[in-house]
Amino acid sequence: MALPMSGCATAGQTGKSEKPAVPLAPPGSEERHQFSKWVADFRSEAVKQGISRDLYDRATRNIEFDESVVKADRSQPEFTKPVWEYLKSAVSDKRIAKGRELLRQHAELLGRIEQAYGVDRHVVVAIWGCESNFGEVMGSRNVIQSLATLGFEGRRPEYGRSQLIAALRILQAGDIRPELMTGSWAGAMGQTQFIPTTYLAHAVDFDKDGRRDIWRSTGDALASTAHYLSVSGWKTGAVWGREIILPAGFDYASAEMGVKRPVSAWQSAGVKRVDGSQFPAGESGTNAAVFLPAGHKGPVFLVYDNFQALLAYNASTSYAMAVSLLADRFRGRGDIVKPWPLDERPLSRSERMELQERLNAKGYEVGKPDAVIGYQTRKAIRQFQTAKGLPADGFATSSLLQKLRGN
Ligand code: CA
Repeated sequence: MALPMSGCATAGQTGKSEKPAVPLAPPGSEERHQFSKWVADFRSEAVKQGISRDLYDRATRNIEFDESVVKADRSQPEFTKPVWEYLKSAVSDKRIAKGRELLRQHAELLGRIEQAYGVDRHVVVAIWGCESNFGEVMGSRNVIQSLATLGFEGRRPEYGRSQLIAALRILQAGDIRPELMTGSWAGAMGQTQFIPTTYLAHAVDFDKDGRRDIWRSTGDALASTAHYLSVSGWKTGAVWGREIILPAGFDYASAEMGVKRPVSAWQSAGVKRVDGSQFPAGESGTNAAVFLPAGHKGPVFLVYDNFQALLAYNASTSYAMAVSLLADRFRGRGDIVKPWPLDERPLSRSERMELQERLNAKGYEVGKPDAVIGYQTRKAIRQFQTAKGLPADGFATSSLLQKLRGN
């Protein structure tokens, strides 16, 4: 959670997916030695933060420097899947069928969780499916080892260290035994893939056995998810959003997650539902943002508070879409109406760098190129598109890069 790399587990493009480990050369003895020294030194920091010496020694007794964790942390994939391919694997027929079966199987439990937290059971089960394929893919790494490795030598040592302290607190509380505390290389744990700080803040003991066991207790895992969503701004009974059609001449600069207006204001601006039906009267005052996951050629959505709650839960828009669409399919609602622009190819990492360099060179300021298409880059793209008389959707495509190269 709250990790840039987190996402839908089977999509295969996130840091959480557990790929078979590539055989690595054994790390140098010097590195092992340095790591052991770091673990021994960090003990006093842990003790300062309330961890008992005895627990620290037991939890770290058998851990080693894990080269594969550092490798995973440093990997920056060259190619990105288009959002429609990501959604195809995240919202697969197989997953829809499995989720529906689990909704029936756990109906009573899900009813109690809905009562307690006010979060729709379809969404809770969709998150369960996206995070761990309903508890099947939870990661089998020793969390203490992964986090100590990241604290010793990660891109963000502060992350590793603070999560390591949080993980030790979980062990100290007796929620799980050290050998059972497994997770992804980044320390995302259990059926909900909570990182330790998220666990400490939001995990609950729903089955009342005295432990918050998000690994083995389905009740604890699903209630923890519902609890986290409820504090992330979930609105009971509300939908996540609506597929829409934009009016001709729409100003795409207002298609940003941060630009929220009541549905009635968007309607006045000419926004219509894709199927031609009216927005329900109860939604007219709802705050909504326009979201174009694949530029102006693809489907467009008005997204409401519950979509933003999913983003607070996990900051990836693809993840929020996957959860929302999966929950809709569980309920028997249809799929997206407008086709995806299948001929568009997302830019590779080096192409995104080139795009940013070329925009900068032409005076459309994106800041220091980092291959991340954030707000500043979208703004620069829109300015370039406007100057060229193109639909200014701020979407980075290969045809756009071609145009930048050509001039
Ligand atoms: Ca429990």
